[in-house]
Amino acid sequence: SYYIEQFDPEVYQAIVDELKRETEHLEMIASENFTFPDVMEAMGSVFTNKYAEGYPAKRYYGGCEYADKVEQLAIDRCKELFGCEYANVQPHSGSQANGAVYAALIKAGDKILGMDLSHGGHLTHGSKVSFSGKNYHSFTYGVELDGRIDYDRVRDIAKIVQPKIIVCGASAYPREIDFARFREIADEVGALLFADIAHIAGLVVAGEHPSPFPHAHVVTTTTHKTLAGPRGGAIMTNDEEIAKKINSAIFPGLQGGPLVHVVAAKAVGFKHNLAPEWKEYAKQVKANAKVLADVLMKRGYDVVSGGTDNHLVLVSFLDKEFSGKDADAALGRAGITVNKNTVPGETRSPFVTSGIRIGSPALTRRGMKEKEFELIANRICDVLDRIDDHEFQAKVKEEMKELALQFVIYDRPIY
Ligand code: PLP
Repeated sequence: SYYIEQFDPEVYQAIVDELKRETEHLEMIASENFTFPDVMEAMGSVFTNKYAEGYPAKRYYGGCEYADKVEQLAIDRCKELFGCEYANVQPHSGSQANGAVYAALIKAGDKILGMDLSHGGHLTHGSKVSFSGKNYHSFTYGVELDGRIDYDRVRDIAKIVQPKIIVCGASAYPREIDFARFREIADEVGALLFADIAHIAGLVVAGEHPSPFPHAHVVTTTTHKTLAGPRGGAIMTNDEEIAKKINSAIFPGLQGGPLVHVVAAKAVGFKHNLAPEWKEYAKQVKANAKVLADVLMKRGYDVVSGGTDNHLVLVSFLDKEFSGKDADAALGRAGITVNKNTVPGETRSPFVTSGIRIGSPALTRRGMKEKEFELIANRICDVLDRIDDHEFQAKVKEEMKELALQFVIYDRPIY
């Protein structure tokens, strides 16, 4: 039995219940994944005891020889994976990584230009409720009514704004991002290009989405989304001066001691991402998302931008009586976990919304393929067609649970 079961049965029970929830429901939140058991072992390791302020071979504490070893492994693997010269694997999260980029490269009050939150950008791309919109003078670009970025429009906005940094990358954009075009725009206005590939990194490293290198001056990612590693962030660049500034911005600028256990887990995750099988996974993630989009469209639902190039599908209910919040709740009752999301031309509040975002990464990690995604997509449509029919939703929940249990990923609660 586990130590935690003996000492803290309440927390233990919550872990067991969460495992059951993740196992029996269909997790389709586009930013989530099932990480690897060996990644969880590293996260649960004795490295959580260790202070290692500084960087490998340049620490402020003794006893860092093994911390150095795992951090250097994580750095080297990260560089190999993304094909870049410098990597910082210490950011505690994607938001911390983004904070470090601004802190390293611009001053408070400087202008930044990022994608609007309601159009699919992230909070840290200049939203007024985030440090990025409070500490910096932020401006936004968005998508057109067809759900796509119009690069000429971005260029026009950039020319007027004259930002120090242009941020590209998104949390809810189903199409390929043209990093080369963004770089042209950045060069034209004398801005640095910052690519936040948190959502698509797992596809990028497999060659299933164009790389931000060599176009972006600096690139950030989370390690827990399509990469399926531990929860955390990383920052990459090819520029030595930028790399030095980034390192100082992370420590001592924004963080204290790195989470060495998570850094060790990042190294393990990157090893998975470097393995040949990863390419197959990334291909399947895209193929599954495409089936999802195709079925939804065939069944008459409005898929934003008319499909997907990546791991997510955005569905608009602007033409429907029900909202994104209603759809999210109905699918939840049917055992399918998604999130409500704003859509281009949004008419409802961000708490209600007129859309949902559906992702394929997590179920693909469980081994589901086109056949399962076709079935799930049809059930999603059935539920949306009968959005007030709770009895029907309960029946779908049983069917989805049966399907889910054929693809179990963890057979034990903790590692
Ligand atoms: N960047 C993008 C594009 C994201 O979608 C997210 C998370 O959803 C983040 C950054 C922030 O990551 P974290 O939640 O680890 O702070």
